[in-house]
Amino acid sequence: MPSSLQIHMFPCLSDNYGFIVRDPESGACAAIDTPDPEVYLVEARKQGWNISEIWNTHWHADHAGGNGAIRAATGAQVFAPRDENSRIPDIDHELSGGNRLFLGGIEAQVIATPGHTLGHISFYFPTAKAAFVGDCLFALGCGRLFEGDGRMMWDSLSRLATLPDDTKIYCAHEYTASNLAFALRVDPLNPALLARADEIRARRDQDLPTVPTTLALEKATNPFLRAPEIARALGEDQRADWEAFAEIRIMKDGFRG
Ligand code: ZN
Ligand code: FE
Repeated sequence: MPSSLQIHMFPCLSDNYGFIVRDPESGACAAIDTPDPEVYLVEARKQGWNISEIWNTHWHADHAGGNGAIRAATGAQVFAPRDENSRIPDIDHELSGGNRLFLGGIEAQVIATPGHTLGHISFYFPTAKAAFVGDCLFALGCGRLFEGDGRMMWDSLSRLATLPDDTKIYCAHEYTASNLAFALRVDPLNPALLARADEIRARRDQDLPTVPTTLALEKATNPFLRAPEIARALGEDQRADWEAFAEIRIMKDGFRG
């Protein structure tokens, strides 16, 4: 039996979440992205953990900007997307979709999830049923298409959607309340969404996180994963699924509460 993954989650910057994961058997310990190196080092120290690795989802400053400071403080090895090696300095181990890596004795799978950026990857731990999805999938949302297009992002989301329904989805930002307003606009009759709305408001009123979410909950309520169903409800069933997704992504970009 592999030992079970320890996950420590904490707020960072204005609306990021930081994640540090650890294999208790070996002590191997990875910072998943590095939004705020000071906070990561303090949180690791509080846990009594020593960060030995950095795993990046993509090159944006609120994800890889703290690599240098954490590496300088800990000597951590940097694992980052090969396709972003021109944007992320000092990568020790380049990763691509389909790679398998180990945190000590615990297996993780690299899933290619481009769209937000062209080299964006996600990390899936099958034994922990946990996926760290960066800025690809959010609770009730998905990342903006800064570098890729709708078809690419739809393929990425579809890849994540093949994980088991009870996979815990660790999104990199707390965007859920504003995502909820848009979801209710485009999917107002979805009973699962209406039920979730009450729960989200209650949690945010108490300043509690809405992350992690689960894949099952996202499949039932996330308007981006539900784009084909939403389009069909509008009588637009002649289009490809990715086109329905792309249209909802454009609507969200122009949505103002
Ligand atoms: Zn980003
Ligand atoms: Fe981000």
